[in-house]
Amino acid sequence: GGVEVDVDLVVVGAGPVGLYAAYYAGFRGMSVAVVDALDHLGGQTAAMYPEKMIYDVAGYAAVKGQHLVDALAEQASSAKPHYVLGEQVVDLVTAPDHALLTTAAGTTLRGKAVLLAAGIGSFSPRPLPAGDGSLPGVVHFVPRPADYAGADVVVVGGGDSAVDWALTLEPVAQRVTLVHRRDAFRAHEASVTRLLGSTVEVLTPYEVDAVLGSERVEGVRLVDGEGGLVERSADVVVAALGFKADLGPLKRWGLDLDRRQVAVDRAQRTSLPRVFAAGDCCGHPDKVTLISVGFGEAATAVNHAAPLVSAGAPVVPGHSSDDPH
Ligand code: FAD
Repeated sequence: GGVEVDVDLVVVGAGPVGLYAAYYAGFRGMSVAVVDALDHLGGQTAAMYPEKMIYDVAGYAAVKGQHLVDALAEQASSAKPHYVLGEQVVDLVTAPDHALLTTAAGTTLRGKAVLLAAGIGSFSPRPLPAGDGSLPGVVHFVPRPADYAGADVVVVGGGDSAVDWALTLEPVAQRVTLVHRRDAFRAHEASVTRLLGSTVEVLTPYEVDAVLGSERVEGVRLVDGEGGLVERSADVVVAALGFKADLGPLKRWGLDLDRRQVAVDRAQRTSLPRVFAAGDCCGHPDKVTLISVGFGEAATAVNHAAPLVSAGAPVVPGHSSDDPH
């Protein structure tokens, strides 16, 4: 097929860093497209911790994950980004004056420059070992806890997400049970202390042996350390067993890597011409992998892409505060 999307800058990844890069591209007068394998904006922040408070991004003393994503999307809207959501970029080929990207769904995008803001790659929640991940009522995220008002909830897992979701749902749900296969939790100590003082019923060491129900979840069968079986009713099973993350296709594009991240220089250039990287996906031996650092990397990358997009454009922009809006 032909090229469906033809822009100055193609951003791979609509996480916090990709969204800020989209704003910044608009500020530098570039047209921009943003592609994400997920069907929503906000990357890890929206998918994994929309309800958690973030305390270390500039300008906010405290901000909920989803609120930060919404604010970034609003800021990015001034660039009128062309979003391609629910499509994973599988191929990237560079030419002397452009790069071509193709998604798994077959969409082709051309950019004069590319910014990889692919985070930890495409991530998918780990399924319950017992399967049944497709049964309605089995979920991996709790984006809107209020949806579970009055529900009988079983949360499975022993990390921060499992403990946080159990505590978040406790005041909302009718009953919350937390099932973990070990006695010890891998979550923050303060959260575990809160958990043990809450009404959440903690069942350890238990594993989910089967998810019960035909049309939708009706319960779980649990197995204890000695092989004993018990059944619990449940309207909702929150499988919070972590994520498999994989840079996947990026590793086949001929990019130099630095351990598990895309190697970049001080202008955020990768080893491929016209291809930059910012945020969690890229690194060097002194990298600090945080949102605030990713924002700076995005600005650095887009400014260095500017002369590639418009010959003669300066790397260093004027002040945004001088720009008429
Ligand atoms: P991501 O948020 O990972 O977004 C990358 C996006 O790229 C994803 O949406 C992915 O689907 C997409 N993608 C990847 N590969 C492809 C492909 N081939 N095609 C299409 N799309 C693709 N950081 C802080 O600074 N402060 C905190 O307090 C903080 N708390 C955290 C709490 C938790 C529970 C977790 C899990 C992380 C926390 N972090 C925190 C880390 C922070 O979320 C990341 O640093 C941040 O999300 C990185 O942003 P990003 O845009 O680089 O990548």
